[in-house]
Amino acid sequence: MIAHMTIPKDLIGQLARARSVAVLTGAGVSVESGVPTFRAAQTGLWAKYNPEELSTPRAFRRNPRLVWEWYAWLRQLVAEARPNAAHLALAQMEKLFPEFNLITQNIDSLHQRAGSRDVIELHGNVTRTKCFDEDVVVASWPDIGDVPPKCPHCGGLLRPDVVWFEEQLPEAAMERAATASATCDVFLSIGTAAVVYPAAALPGDALRHGAVVVEINPQPTPLTDRAHFVLTGSAGEVLPELLRALGKE
Ligand code: NAD
Repeated sequence: MIAHMTIPKDLIGQLARARSVAVLTGAGVSVESGVPTFRAAQTGLWAKYNPEELSTPRAFRRNPRLVWEWYAWLRQLVAEARPNAAHLALAQMEKLFPEFNLITQNIDSLHQRAGSRDVIELHGNVTRTKCFDEDVVVASWPDIGDVPPKCPHCGGLLRPDVVWFEEQLPEAAMERAATASATCDVFLSIGTAAVVYPAAALPGDALRHGAVVVEINPQPTPLTDRAHFVLTGSAGEVLPELLRALGKE
């Protein structure tokens, strides 16, 4: 744990003046809750699988049981996880600005569980299930031991309601995210490698429209060289510091 990270005064000034703030979070924000990034998830039971190869419609067609079981493991992990200091700080920040848009690529509900009220989910949510054929959310199904279970309406296979590689992002969420990024005064990119499109384009949109762009990540990313401020560290350490510094303004 870092003792005290110095948050640049200029950044605090920019935030204190901001009317509209947009935040994009990625898997890194949930690492301190014990939910690994996909790269880090390649350990233990699932070490021999590449999660990116389990997260496609093709993979599901080829081996629906394997894909269902991988997401069942992730769902269990997420259910047992608790929001960390980063999620909690973001839930507090929502109250500080006239407009605050929290855009997430995470599928774990930890922002909502931390108290964030309006989360723009770009990649769906692993706690929801939908029909693979009909693409509609299914709330319950008879548990008769099928893996994956079958849709109670059409008998098709059920799958997690997440966006897989090669699939479209939900249009309404993407539209809101694009508008928020293009109209904000300050944009925070937190715990995301900024390589999975179209979400990875959002910081660039914010930059083009003149926003102050801030990156929070322990590792450099393709955004690092273009960001106005780079706070190198874990989200769970940096965000509470940022919130404290903002509170003193
Ligand atoms: P990613 O590569 O965007 O995120 C990993 C990033 O987090 C890296 O840049 C890494 O340096 C950074 N990071 C690691 N620890 C951090 C910390 N403590 N604080 C801040 N940053 C930290 O994500 P990915 O793993 O390639 O995931 C791809 C997609 O898979 C996601 O967009 C999401 O849809 C899904 N996914 C979701 C979760 C989740 O919901 N928690 C977890 C894994 C994957």
